[in-house]
Amino acid sequence: MDFRFGDEEIAFQETLRRFGDKVLRAHERTLDEAGVIPEEVLSEMARLGLLAMPVPPEYGGMGATAVQTEIAAEEIGRGDFSMATAVFFLLEAGWGHILARHGTEEARQEVLPPVCQGKHFLGIATTEPGGGSDLGRMRTRSHRDGADFVVNGEKAFLSGVEEARARGGGHLTLTRSESGDGFHFLFVPTQAPGVSVTRFRNMGRMGISTGALAYEDVKVPAKYLVGAEGKGFLYAMEGFQSARTFVAAACIGAAERALEMGMDYIKNREVFGRPLGKFEGIQFELADQYALVEAVKWQCRRAAWLLDTYAWKGDTAHRSEVDRVVASVKLMAPQVAFDTVKKVMMWFGASGYTKDVGLELGFRGLMSYMVGAEGGLNIMRIILGRELLGKEYVPYK
Ligand SMILES: Cc1cc2nc3c(=O)[nH]c(=O)nc-3n(C[C@H](O)[C@H](O)[C@H](O)COP(=O)(O)OP(=O)(O)OC[C@H]3O[C@@H](n4cnc5c(N)ncnc54)[C@H](O)[C@@H]3O)c2cc1C
Repeated sequence: MDFRFGDEEIAFQETLRRFGDKVLRAHERTLDEAGVIPEEVLSEMARLGLLAMPVPPEYGGMGATAVQTEIAAEEIGRGDFSMATAVFFLLEAGWGHILARHGTEEARQEVLPPVCQGKHFLGIATTEPGGGSDLGRMRTRSHRDGADFVVNGEKAFLSGVEEARARGGGHLTLTRSESGDGFHFLFVPTQAPGVSVTRFRNMGRMGISTGALAYEDVKVPAKYLVGAEGKGFLYAMEGFQSARTFVAAACIGAAERALEMGMDYIKNREVFGRPLGKFEGIQFELADQYALVEAVKWQCRRAAWLLDTYAWKGDTAHRSEVDRVVASVKLMAPQVAFDTVKKVMMWFGASGYTKDVGLELGFRGLMSYMVGAEGGLNIMRIILGRELLGKEYVPYK
């Protein structure tokens, strides 16, 4: 066992750190205020190969491993504290990977290259107005009609609806089959006739839109079916393993940045005649948060390593281990990061409450991962309960 990064990973992380420090930090406030990630940020990400980076080179990606993608998510979460760029990045990475693995050859060749070039957006659509946790009860339906599937229904609280409408692209969409006992997973282009978009007003990560998509007799060519007909639930769950790992990594990046800001501050801010950092009450909080961030970070690296070693190779024999580790990091990373930002805000006193210091960007952005994005905290607890105690202990059927 070796915890060290190789030369390649070190060089990659340094490149990403420079990109985060120079490009993302320079834009995080403006993208939060403008409600959109600037073209220059996306084109730089495309140039660095960061968009949908696990997609194989033949479809325009860099064929990155899950560990490389995890490192990138961490650096992007650290660079753009609002989380908007991290969300854009991790959705395309996680779901681009699923389309590359299970999509038809035609769909891969058509859909993935413009996503990797930063021209189109690719996201995920599972949540509905009636709920996101209990996907078994979803109402959006699709049925075969010759060479097409026809989709009817509504999805809500989806990231990137406006980006997909304006730029092109769409969402991998989980729909119930007409017979009712299976699920079709379909790439639905947002510009297809019959799709309408509503943007919601969020409290944070403003640089990427969140909203609803309504489908009225939307014709989706059968080439956009992901995996086998009726088995869509499995591919969606497989995608969540990756997306949740990258969410956790982005949260860790934000937590590390907050800790660094906090350490700079408590070394310099004098109260009662000495630096704040000399008081145990503050130093012990720093020690606790550092230990928690490090613990979750290494568990997150383990999650990415498990993806590379098992899940991304199609090895389902270790599924329970992957699920346990991924659910652990998606459960803990948002909480640890949110708590770290909150504590550092307190160290800053009144200035921590200002937009000038900027901690509030992270505070608002990280909250999205507490309430639900990529699965609520209690859903992670339910997964852990299921894997630790057995399926018969799942509290619902
Ligand atoms: C900013 C943002 C972006 C999002 N982007 C996307 C996206 O791109 N694509 C997409 O499909 N969805 C997206 N979502 C939706 C997200 O997946 C859902 O919020 C999540 O699945 C929870 O669903 P819900 O909000 O309907 O809450 P509900 O399912 O109604 O649950 C409400 C609360 O109860 C908890 N809960 C649920 N069941 C149980 C139980 N059995 N026991 C105890 N507690 C329980 C949940 O954890 C949650 O806290 C996004 C959400 C946010 C906030």
